[in-house]
Amino acid sequence: MGPARPPGRDGVPPDRHLHVRLRPFTLSGAPGTQGAPLAYCPRRTVLDKLLVDAASEAGAEVREEFTVQEIVVEDDRVVGIRGRSKDGATVTEHADVVVGADGRNSFVAKAVHPERYNEKPQLLCGYYSYWSGLPMDGRFDVYIRPARGFAAVPTHDDLTLVIAGWPFEEHEANKHDVEGNYLKMFDLAPEFAERIRGAKREARFAGTAVPNFFRRPYGPGWALVGDAGYNKDFITAQGILDAFRDAELCATALDQSFSGARSFDEALAGYQSTRDEHVLPMFEFTCQLATLEPPPPELQQLLAAVHGNQKAMDGFARVNAGVTSPAEFFAEENVGQIFAAASPAPAG
Ligand SMILES: Cc1cc2nc3c(=O)[nH]c(=O)nc-3n(C[C@H](O)[C@H](O)[C@H](O)COP(=O)(O)OP(=O)(O)OC[C@H]3O[C@@H](n4cnc5c(N)ncnc54)[C@H](O)[C@@H]3O)c2cc1C
Repeated sequence: MGPARPPGRDGVPPDRHLHVRLRPFTLSGAPGTQGAPLAYCPRRTVLDKLLVDAASEAGAEVREEFTVQEIVVEDDRVVGIRGRSKDGATVTEHADVVVGADGRNSFVAKAVHPERYNEKPQLLCGYYSYWSGLPMDGRFDVYIRPARGFAAVPTHDDLTLVIAGWPFEEHEANKHDVEGNYLKMFDLAPEFAERIRGAKREARFAGTAVPNFFRRPYGPGWALVGDAGYNKDFITAQGILDAFRDAELCATALDQSFSGARSFDEALAGYQSTRDEHVLPMFEFTCQLATLEPPPPELQQLLAAVHGNQKAMDGFARVNAGVTSPAEFFAEENVGQIFAAASPAPAG
């Protein structure tokens, strides 16, 4: 999810407010900014087609249903790929640089064995489905409960996405009854449980658990973007935004290299350091949330001070929407202002 375009564009309703329902209070803020006042949660089926069409219109040759089966390496340098379309013969393509934008199980990464760092194991196991008859009235609701978290957000076709997660330690025990465990979780928020009882599930459950890691995103003849280069739990829903940012940073670095403005190593090292610096605070925030453990006491105190302070709640909503870095929100000065606003005014 991320702040985006005008209301109703491509048929997805906007989210005006994010409600983070903690116990005992709810933080209710607007994630939008002046330039991008609304947020949207488009279906991937819609978003991905828009992206493919846009790439094609911009001049890229798009080959759908084409599987890369081999990375071609010569003298320790990636020089191309071998693969085939669904009904076609195997073809080999050569390139100055092969960019793996092929997800967290990246085929390119498996071939080049990049260094991995900041690794954390799977923390959370999440399942989602789409429901009709569950109107959200422009809200994105997040519920945090002991060892449980779930969220409901409107998407295309009058459907609401409901995603729910439990700690990864419970994966084995719960995987045989996903539906039962998913539904039971809503009893922790009785008003939501009642609303979803009146709704209809329109799709089968999908779900997974993902590891958290960074990969060095470049080497001789190759680069990685998106989940292929950096993956984290989906609890903060930042992956698509991060993949867009990576694509832009990587394309800029490659342009610098191809134009001779900087060497490949220098330009791509810049991509890596800019990426890491930008995403590390959100990575840490995400991994902390994904444990589904109670926040540390200092964070609990801060969230209590945020509650009721509209400016601070909007700021917190913007962190969750990926607009503001956690580093900025949790900076000493901002935290100090939030606590100062929450303190009772001195007597007299
Ligand atoms: C349960 C869940 C919920 C999520 N919810 C959100 C959310 O709400 N918001 C958000 O921003 N992010 C969310 N994410 C994260 C998001 O899906 C990813 O961060 C994002 O899709 C990364 O984009 P990408 O282009 O790097 O990789 P992907 O979207 O994984 O795309 C990789 C592409 O490469 C193709 N590919 C792979 N191997 C080959 C091969 N050998 N040959 C040819 N093609 C190949 C795949 O088919 C795929 O099309 C969620 C993730 C999960 C698991």
